[in-house]
Amino acid sequence: MKLDARIPGGPLEDKWDRHRADLRLVSPANKRKFHVIVVGSGLAGASAAASLAELGYQVSCFCFQDSPRRAHSIAAQGGINAAKNYQNDGDSTWRLFHDTIKGGDFRSREGNVYRLAQVSGSIIDQCVAQGVPFAREYGGMLANRSFGGAQVSRTFYARGQTGQQLLIGAYQALERMIGRGAVTMYSRHEMLELVVVSGRARGIVARDLVTGEMQSFAADAVVLATGGYGNVFFLSTNAKGCNVTAAYRAYKKGAGFANPCFTQIHPTCIPVSGEYQSKLTLMSESLRNDGRVWVPKAHGDTRGPREIPEAERDYYLERKYPSFGNLAPRDIASRAAKEACDDGRGVGPGGRGVYLDFSSAIARLGEHVIRERYDNLFEMYERITAENPYKVPMRIYPAVHYTMGGLWVDYNLMSTLPGLHVIGEANFSDHGANRLGASALMQGLADGYFILPYTIGDYLAGAKLDAVDATHSAFREAEQRAHERLQALLAVDGARSVDSFHKELGHVMWNEAGMARNRDGLIRALQRIPEIRAEFWQNVKVPGAAATLNQSLEKAGRVADFLEFGELLCRDAVEREESCGGHFRTEYQTPDGEAQRDDARFTHAAVWEYRGDDAPIRHVEPLEFEFVKLATRSYR
Ligand SMILES: Cc1cc2nc3c(=O)[nH]c(=O)nc-3n(C[C@H](O)[C@H](O)[C@H](O)COP(=O)(O)OP(=O)(O)OC[C@H]3O[C@@H](n4cnc5c(N)ncnc54)[C@H](O)[C@@H]3O)c2cc1C
Repeated sequence: MKLDARIPGGPLEDKWDRHRADLRLVSPANKRKFHVIVVGSGLAGASAAASLAELGYQVSCFCFQDSPRRAHSIAAQGGINAAKNYQNDGDSTWRLFHDTIKGGDFRSREGNVYRLAQVSGSIIDQCVAQGVPFAREYGGMLANRSFGGAQVSRTFYARGQTGQQLLIGAYQALERMIGRGAVTMYSRHEMLELVVVSGRARGIVARDLVTGEMQSFAADAVVLATGGYGNVFFLSTNAKGCNVTAAYRAYKKGAGFANPCFTQIHPTCIPVSGEYQSKLTLMSESLRNDGRVWVPKAHGDTRGPREIPEAERDYYLERKYPSFGNLAPRDIASRAAKEACDDGRGVGPGGRGVYLDFSSAIARLGEHVIRERYDNLFEMYERITAENPYKVPMRIYPAVHYTMGGLWVDYNLMSTLPGLHVIGEANFSDHGANRLGASALMQGLADGYFILPYTIGDYLAGAKLDAVDATHSAFREAEQRAHERLQALLAVDGARSVDSFHKELGHVMWNEAGMARNRDGLIRALQRIPEIRAEFWQNVKVPGAAATLNQSLEKAGRVADFLEFGELLCRDAVEREESCGGHFRTEYQTPDGEAQRDDARFTHAAVWEYRGDDAPIRHVEPLEFEFVKLATRSYR
C-alpha cells in the first residue's frame, strides 16, 4: 500500500493556495458529464453534495435515514470553531492551527490542519449567508464562547443546537439542488458494498431499506461521508444508527484504515444508569464555560452536594490545570474524572460521576443568563434525570463520543483507493489523537464546502475512466455478495438478539480498549472478540425477511461489521506502544499520570491494509513537524 499524502511544499500559509492553483480543472461544460456518488447527508455529505451539484456535476446522494435532515450531525450541540477573532482576544489562523496540533497531541498533519484553520472563517460566512441563526451580541456581531483546549473564545453557536441549525443550512442547499434535478437523493438506502473496477472506485451497491431491493449505482467517483464508528463501544453519545459499515467495507476493498484506535471520550455525559440502557446523552462542552467540575475531597462522602461546604470540595480541574481550568481538553478532563472516581470520590449511584456545578455562575450572572445560554441542555438533563440543574449540580461522567480514526486520505481527501474520497468524521481527520471541542463541525464543513469541491476535480480531470455502468460484472458480483450476506444472517436463526451481541462486544471494548488501555487487556480483547463473533454467526436471531423493511436485519449487518472492526481497533491500540491524546496506555504515563508519547517510534499515522483471512498489515505515514516544535502537552 502506497501512502503518498501529497502535502504541497513551501511556506505553511501558502500551501493550500498554491495547491489550488495547481490542481487540474474540469471545464464547466464537462462537469455535467461526470457523476459523483456521495454516501452520507450529514454536514460533510450534504455540504459536499450541494457544492458539487452547484459546480455542475451530476450527484447522487444516499442516506439511511428517512430524510437527509436526520443525519447524526443534527445532534451537535455546542458550536463550531473559526479563527475570526471577533472577540479581539488574540485569535488567529496560526493560533487555531497551533491549538489543534497541540490538542491532537502532535499526531496530525501540519499541512491539513493549517488549511482547516484557514478556511474556518469562510465556513461561518457561508452559513450566515444561508441564514443559520448563530447567536449574536446585543450590537449584532456574532457571539462566541470558549471550548476546551483554547484560551480564546472562537466558538460560534446557535444555543445548544448548533448542529441542527448548520444542518438545516446545508440541507436547504442540498434541497435546492435536488429541486433543480442536479442531485438525486436516495433516502432510506444503505450502502452495503463499494464497487471497484480496474482498481478505481466506480460505484456502490445499496439496499432500499423500505422494499429490501438491492440496487447498483455506477459513477465516476465515490465520496464517503458516513460519519464515525463510536457505537462499536455499544454505549456512546452517537445516534443509535451510527456505524462503521460503509468505511469498513471500503477497507475490505483496499482503502487503508488509519489510526482506528484513536477514540474520543467526552468528559461531560449523563452517567450510565443501568444495565438496560442503550444510549448515552452528551451534555455539551459549552457547559464548562460556566459549570465548575468538582468532587468531594473526602472518600465515600455521601452528603448531598449542597451540604458539602466549599472548603471540602475538590475543583480538581482548576487545581491541576490552573491555566485552562474547567476548559482543559476532553482527554485530560475525562481521565481526571476517572481518576477521582477510581479514588473513591465519585458521586451518584455507583460512584461513577462528578459534579458540574452552575451555582457560582448563577450567583454571578443570574439564572436568566444561564437559561438564555443553555436552556435546552438543562431541560434535556432534567427530563432524563428528574433533577433540576438550576438547583442541584449536574452529575456527569465520560463516555465515547467521537472517532478520530477513519479511512486514510491524502491532502486531496482521496483514500488509498483511487476515486474513493472520504470526508467528515469518516476520514482519519485533522484531529490527531484527540479532537478539540467544536472542531468536528468545522472539519466536516471545511471538507464538504471548501476542499473536496476543488480536489475532486483534479481526480476527474486526470483519471482515464472507462465507460462503466451498473450492468458491469463487478456490480453483479457485489450485489450477489451483499445478498448472500443478508441471507446468511437470516439463516442463522439462533437464540440471541443482535443487541445482546452488540452489548457484549461493547463491554469488552469499553473495559479493555476504553478510557485506559494496556497490553494485557487488549490481548484479552483480541482473544474474546473472535469468540463473540463466532457465536454471533452461530446463534444470532434475525427475524423477518430480506425483501422487506427489516430493522433487525439492518442492525445485524452493522453489528457483524463492528465485530470485525473492534478487533482492528484493538490491534491498532496494542501496536501503538505510547500514550497520546485519547489513546491512554496505562504502561506509558508520566509520574503525574499524564499521557507519555514516544515520538521516536510513533510520530506517524498507522494505516491498516486488509488482507482477507491473513492478519492486516500495518503501514505508517511519518508525520513531519516543520513549523511547530514537538513538545509535551501542558495545560497546567
Ligand atoms: C451528541 C453530540 C454532540 C456533538 N456536538 C458537537 C459540537 O458541538 N461541535 C462539533 O464540532 N462537533 C460535535 N459533535 C461531533 C459532530 O456532530 C460529528 O462529528 C459530525 O456531525 C459528523 O458529521 P458527518 O457529516 O461526518 O457524519 P454524520 O452526521 O454522522 O452523517 C453520516 C451520514 O452518513 C449516512 N450513512 C452512514 N452509513 C451509511 C451507509 N452505509 N449507507 C448510506 N448512508 C450511510 C447517514 O445516513 C448520514 O447521512 C457532536 C457529536 C455528538 C454525538
